[in-house]
Amino acid sequence: MNGVSALLLSSAASFLFLFLVFRPLETAFPAKTGQRFFRPEWWTDLCFFLGQYLLWSGVVIGMLTYFGGGLRAMLPIGFRDAVAGQPWWLQAVEVVLLSDLVVYWGHRIQHRVPVLWRFHSIHHSAEHLDWLAAHREHPVDTVYTLGLINLPVFFLGFPMETLGGLIAFRGIWAIYIHSNVRLPIGPLRMLIGAPELHHWHHDRDRHAGNYANISPLMDVLFGTYQCPDREPERFGINERISRSYFGQMIHPFRGTRVELDTVEFDRTRREPTPG
Ligand SMILES: [Zn+2]
Ligand SMILES: [Zn+2]
Repeated sequence: MNGVSALLLSSAASFLFLFLVFRPLETAFPAKTGQRFFRPEWWTDLCFFLGQYLLWSGVVIGMLTYFGGGLRAMLPIGFRDAVAGQPWWLQAVEVVLLSDLVVYWGHRIQHRVPVLWRFHSIHHSAEHLDWLAAHREHPVDTVYTLGLINLPVFFLGFPMETLGGLIAFRGIWAIYIHSNVRLPIGPLRMLIGAPELHHWHHDRDRHAGNYANISPLMDVLFGTYQCPDREPERFGINERISRSYFGQMIHPFRGTRVELDTVEFDRTRREPTPG
């Protein structure tokens, strides 16, 4: 089997695995009742899924390995050995807390800084959430987010071998919190998070809160925890955006030009640019 066939086969296997895990949950415990499997923009999200598996994951892993290796090389060997010498559970706790802290602020800034929002808004443009919509993410956003999540791992020299399970759990959990599921887990959601929290993050209000990755602890600490006992009315963004895969891939770059044009236009008319 050549490389392309192997890639196609593993993508199809991942799709089937995720379908078999999440579809029964979405059917049995739907957050939005009556949402069809082939809901609007299902095909756009399928393109994001395929783009991620067939094209971007290789580029992203290559970039993370390259920069991660560079960061690791900067550390004294004694320090790396001391980190690796700790019990695995302590390493896991340290990694989760440090990663969550870094990615919390990295994510919160994405919602504030216009150039970062242009890339991140692609993820938020989904108006229907389910396990497939979790894959709607611009590759630049993926590099940014995974780079930040793994920064403590690279920088503190945590050995990858002891963290394999944690990385896999993060990946699955990131898909789960987008699924159309509302499965009450009681106070446990304060510890590990839940779809209903991330659904509120996808509310039309860009500053709705819940920026944390796994544990909502950082949201609780920094005052952005939101958990009403119902689903948001509408998901998505308030800006105009193409609904096609290709249109969304080029959207962040087109945004720059449009905004500059607007500034030029306003200057010539001597009118203040609306905030
Ligand atoms: Zn966000
Ligand atoms: Zn999301």
